[in-house]
Amino acid sequence: MPGVPTLEAIRRVPKVLLHDHLDGGLRPRTVVELAAATGYAGLPTADPDELGRWFIAAANSGSLETYLETFAHTCGVMQTEEALVRVAAEAAEDLADDGVVYAEVRYAPELFVERGLSLDTVVEAVQQGFAEGARRAAERGRNIRVVTLLCAMRQHARALEIAELAVRYRDAGVGGFDIAGPEEGYPPTRNLDAFEYLRRNNAHFTIHAGEAFGLASIWEAIQHCGAERLGHGVRIVDDVKTAGDGHVQLGRLASYVRDRRIPLEICPSSNVQTGAARSIAEHPIGLLARLRFRVTVNTDNRLMSGCTVSSELAALVDAFGYGWADLQWFTINAMKSAFLDFDQRLELINTVIKPGYAELLD
Ligand SMILES: [Zn+2]
Repeated sequence: MPGVPTLEAIRRVPKVLLHDHLDGGLRPRTVVELAAATGYAGLPTADPDELGRWFIAAANSGSLETYLETFAHTCGVMQTEEALVRVAAEAAEDLADDGVVYAEVRYAPELFVERGLSLDTVVEAVQQGFAEGARRAAERGRNIRVVTLLCAMRQHARALEIAELAVRYRDAGVGGFDIAGPEEGYPPTRNLDAFEYLRRNNAHFTIHAGEAFGLASIWEAIQHCGAERLGHGVRIVDDVKTAGDGHVQLGRLASYVRDRRIPLEICPSSNVQTGAARSIAEHPIGLLARLRFRVTVNTDNRLMSGCTVSSELAALVDAFGYGWADLQWFTINAMKSAFLDFDQRLELINTVIKPGYAELLD
């Protein structure tokens, strides 16, 4: 199978995913079935195929309201323990079937308490689901390790509470913390108390920064809040100047991000849908990878973008001519950047990832 990586061949090599939202990755059929089971009446259609197309079209619409409506539906059907277990289990199975060997899946527990679940019950249901999904995948010979990240919503004021929740469950499969939601008007420093709490407790966190909004958000996330990774971070490219003769110069923030090896959780299709990039071919990931930033490739929302890790990598192969060595580099970058014990990261790199690419690298 050496040669140009095809989608089918990419699906067979080990992959690592760091940025994926639980409420952005449901199967359309599951949304329909959970809506019926839980009495959620808001779906635009009860036909799974049509609904799948509706999610992608809504996310492509260019309207923020329509985009946010997609999450109102997924979160709307995820308000019971059974629903959370099922969604998490299927996410683990779907990722494993795509050849993902290690995934960090994130969600905001505060979005699933509309019908009276406690935050702790939400976390426990999701953990149970991932354990079940990983077990079912392993029975089919697909091994996946899933770690969860707990998000706080920037527009709410519960970040410290969610950070405490993440620390409370860190020995039960919760690997870290993040803030999600609208970037503009909600700078990371609004949640400084949460980040200070996490740092005092030696806990891991990433921050959605530099997606729609620019360098100030990235700078705050790293230098004020202490983020270990950047969710998207793609606007760091605004601090990279390319002269007419092709000479590239990095500003001080871009240099810092690259030199400190701060991982960028890049989500190409999602960025095109939200307008953060015009197309995959024009996505800054090409330049950032060439400059050897610590680039990782992610899905963000598999349902809304109609994507998988493999399809994102295949799109990059088409756009930038990447070969197997590049795909292995993205994968090892991600594994190195995981919120997982160092010895376990190393073991996955040496016993799963490198052997999985070895025959392809001649
Ligand atoms: Zn995201």
